[in-house]
Amino acid sequence: MHTLQDRHPEHKHSDALGSSFTTYRGRFAPSPSGPLHFGSLVAALASYLDAKANQGQWLVRMEDIDTPRVVPGAADAILTTLDAYGLHWDGEVVYQSQRHALYQDILAPLIEMRHVYACTCTRKQIKARGGLYDNHCRDASHQFEGNALRLKQNYPVLEFQDDLQGQVHIPKGIASEDYIVKRRDGLFAYQLVVVVDDHQQGITHVVRGADLLEPTARQLSLFKQLNYTAPHFMHVPLAVATAGFKLSKQNHAPAIDNSKPLPALAAALKFLGFNLSHVHFDNVDTLLKWAISHYHISLLPNNKEIQVTQQDTGHYDFTPL
Ligand code: GLU
Ligand code: ZN
Repeated sequence: MHTLQDRHPEHKHSDALGSSFTTYRGRFAPSPSGPLHFGSLVAALASYLDAKANQGQWLVRMEDIDTPRVVPGAADAILTTLDAYGLHWDGEVVYQSQRHALYQDILAPLIEMRHVYACTCTRKQIKARGGLYDNHCRDASHQFEGNALRLKQNYPVLEFQDDLQGQVHIPKGIASEDYIVKRRDGLFAYQLVVVVDDHQQGITHVVRGADLLEPTARQLSLFKQLNYTAPHFMHVPLAVATAGFKLSKQNHAPAIDNSKPLPALAAALKFLGFNLSHVHFDNVDTLLKWAISHYHISLLPNNKEIQVTQQDTGHYDFTPL
């Protein structure tokens, strides 16, 4: 089995008695905008297996910061599904909606040091100027009240090493954009809270879908800005209905079935490169145990997306676009 030491020698520590142990803290961070579907199961399973195969902890964080997109009941439904699929998390679930004070505490000194400014540009205006934000309002001294707040990009990240995708290059325009840390509606932006949370929860390894490759560059720049140690990143391929369209409510990817976890779990393992042709399981715990002991990073496909049909998702009924 692939061990954490092979991959990340710097995460090997020694305790006071001199025996060595490893620290691994991974997490699954769903947005409760709907129930889990096959695509989110793949992300959950990949982060779970990577954590457990490395004797790590696996945390769950509810990314319910974007309250207008939160669907009532979805957070509980997600947790119920994870339980039904045998994906049991360590510790208490963290809810971003209960952490506004923490986010404000991190933002306050950035404002104090004038790293943050208010921006009045509409999406339409930014589009008309070419689509990428051109740091237009940097020196305009707009009032903070009622406006979006942007962080000056002092640490542009143009490339980074992904544990699966290898060297990732980020277009200069994206890397150097001043990005929003607090929205016009007063909500903290995803980019800010994800970095604050990953740091505060001591996350050492982020394993998630490749739709988040570009945001990773911003998150890495924020880790630098805040003087935090960044975790390792590994982005697994995204399950798409058709090229460029991830499975989502928009293309009718259904919720995975809590009463029949085995077919979807097996399908997700196949998606992640496991060969299940000579094994048979009658419950999720033995299946997951087998998967943990057979997990190896070299199994994982390293493309950015993989097209799946209904058949590939465990015969669940979804309609591609
Ligand atoms: N909440 C994000 C999503 O569901 C994932 C964020 C992350 O894994 O960092 O797309
Ligand atoms: Zn602006």
